[in-house]
Amino acid sequence: MRCLALDIGGTKIAAALVENNQIQQRQQITTPQDDAANAMHQALATLVQQYVGQFDYVAVASTGIINNGILTALNPKNLGGLAEFPLQDSIARHTDKPIFLLNDVQAAACAEYQHMDPQEVPNFAFIVVSTGVGGGIILNGELQTGPNGVVGHIGHSLADPNGEMCGCGRRGCVEAVTAGRAIERDAQKWDKPCSPKEVFALFRENDEKATALVHRSAKAIANLVADLVICLDIQHVVIGGSVGLADGYLPLVQQYMQAMPHFYHCKLSTAKYAGDAGLIGAAYWGEIVLAKA
Ligand SMILES: [Zn+2]
Repeated sequence: MRCLALDIGGTKIAAALVENNQIQQRQQITTPQDDAANAMHQALATLVQQYVGQFDYVAVASTGIINNGILTALNPKNLGGLAEFPLQDSIARHTDKPIFLLNDVQAAACAEYQHMDPQEVPNFAFIVVSTGVGGGIILNGELQTGPNGVVGHIGHSLADPNGEMCGCGRRGCVEAVTAGRAIERDAQKWDKPCSPKEVFALFRENDEKATALVHRSAKAIANLVADLVICLDIQHVVIGGSVGLADGYLPLVQQYMQAMPHFYHCKLSTAKYAGDAGLIGAAYWGEIVLAKA
């Protein structure tokens, strides 16, 4: 089966044909910002028409939440003019092939899970710690999306009731404590303001303030992993994203996890797929759904 896979991000849209995990004819355009909805309809028309006749189904990984074919987000303002964009209908204007849509981190979870043995790892979670924090959850070998597409938005579970305000409007979410944006927010207040990358460089030089920020982030992620294990009986968690994959981060998460009782433990590893996880995961998921139909 040949898939036209699209990965819609806040700044870029990637498109490619995916077959047996192999990416071909990949291209990338800028996500429309001005007159975004109209420009997005046009961009999708152009992309789909370029691949017409070459695919059996379309699979889309997108930023935000896909609620019954419509693009939304916990904070729709983040989507600008693309809030409530009718993604499914827009693509369906240009093809009669099946269309599957999911959130980009849910897609990445599928990409990471596809080579695991469902007998050994029936329950799995993927956590991306990047500018924000997102997740994808697989239970009994199946990706969970939920009736409103929300499953996996674990970055908005609670880390600290007295913590900073999160972009979603709730105080103290995991994202508001651990994400690159949170690290940057705090490191910008230093006498010599730092980017997250600089914070990690200082952390590796044992700088006290940088170490405190990175530890706070890793500890909150370890607690998130423990919550997932105890709530959902998760066997394996994969961590990705620019913060999650930073040198020295995973060992810290592991260290905080080891300090907890054993029933909170699970296998932890780093993500294998980087930039193309959305394309590959969406294509894989579409093929599974199609096979069941
Ligand atoms: Zn939040």
